[in-house]
Amino acid sequence: MSPNQKKRAVFLDRDGVLNKSIVRDGKPYSPSTLDEMEIPADAAQALQRLKAAGYLLICVTNQPEVARGNHSRQMVEALNAKAQRVLSLDEVRVCWHDDPDNCDCRKPKAGLLLGAAKDHNIDLAASFMVGDRWRDVAAGHGAGCKTILIEHNYAEEWKAPSPHHTTRSLSGAAAWILENNIMNTNSQILSQLKVKLFADGADKAGMLEMYRNPWIKGFTTNPTLMRKAGVSDYEAFARDILAAIPDRSISLEVFSDEFDEMKRQALKIAKWGANVYVKIPVTNTRDESSIPLIRELSHSGVKVNVTAMLALDQVRDVTAALAGGAPSYVSVFAGRVADTGRDPVPLMAAAMEYLKPHAGIEMIWASPRELLNVFQADAVGCHIITATNDILKKLELVGRDLHEYSLDTVKMFRNDAVKAGFAL
Ligand SMILES: [Mg+2]
Repeated sequence: MSPNQKKRAVFLDRDGVLNKSIVRDGKPYSPSTLDEMEIPADAAQALQRLKAAGYLLICVTNQPEVARGNHSRQMVEALNAKAQRVLSLDEVRVCWHDDPDNCDCRKPKAGLLLGAAKDHNIDLAASFMVGDRWRDVAAGHGAGCKTILIEHNYAEEWKAPSPHHTTRSLSGAAAWILENNIMNTNSQILSQLKVKLFADGADKAGMLEMYRNPWIKGFTTNPTLMRKAGVSDYEAFARDILAAIPDRSISLEVFSDEFDEMKRQALKIAKWGANVYVKIPVTNTRDESSIPLIRELSHSGVKVNVTAMLALDQVRDVTAALAGGAPSYVSVFAGRVADTGRDPVPLMAAAMEYLKPHAGIEMIWASPRELLNVFQADAVGCHIITATNDILKKLELVGRDLHEYSLDTVKMFRNDAVKAGFAL
């Protein structure tokens, strides 16, 4: 975290959140002695998880009983100190006033939170307020935080906007905050990627699932994937998919080995939709170059996706053939390069240099082997990466806390051992 980066906080009311309230006739009261202050068993661990996720823990508490003459300030401070020590709070901020004082800090006003935000450089929109009464929720809303109510069903009128979340315990509040945190981190990281994500597949249900994912900007397919998905009628499958996905790029491949027939297929496929890119392999199976056909198609307005390239000289020559033609893609099989023990990153970076002068030609990082390749493609300025659904499903792991993920892994091993009924 850079020094200028804003911090995030969880603001915590004291009574009824950090310690149990004393409830009489349905109304909550503060403890008046250290012995009366009972901290719930789950509180310390819940707050530890929040602290580990990088949140400041700041108690914000109204203590009007001092102004009312019912409690001594010394005792309230001793109670606050106990909560701070037991729960490792970063700070306790107290409003000592009562309603007639008309201060700025007594909740439902947001003064305690705003003051802390100023002193600690806190991003309030990325922060949370946890309370057990309407005054807490109102203060959280007023400060622009997300609000969580720990519901104890007190006998009092609700005079605040609804909380963003309601739960029964501090553990429940912490779990919700951490879930939100993962989702925010995840979408923040993904929204910073410049590389466009394409889904590579030929299974209609899987393609439609990815179509519902806003991060997926296009689709690629190939005869191998189509065969694997059990497609027998090429045109019927393609038209079906194009009807379901009319507004994102879809690449469909020719399958002839003769250039005349490839050309006929390419012209036919191109007519199926404005979002169609026609995939042409860089050579036929006799290693004869497809470049003359690629040049002809591209310059007659067909959007081509030149595929199955692994070597730099292929990218150089194909780019020269595509220059000045219709918008096009060059697909470099970075994953297959990696399969040969070579690092694809420098190769892809060098390939990008050939494309730089040509705005209409985009590079596809094809056959990725792991989610990390998305970030590698982005780092070298590659325009697109196309990945199978099993890799794309890992997008939700992006930014995940490594300790949390470690714990998930331990649980997976344990659950599978139990399910297998292993015994020693
Ligand atoms: Mg309270």
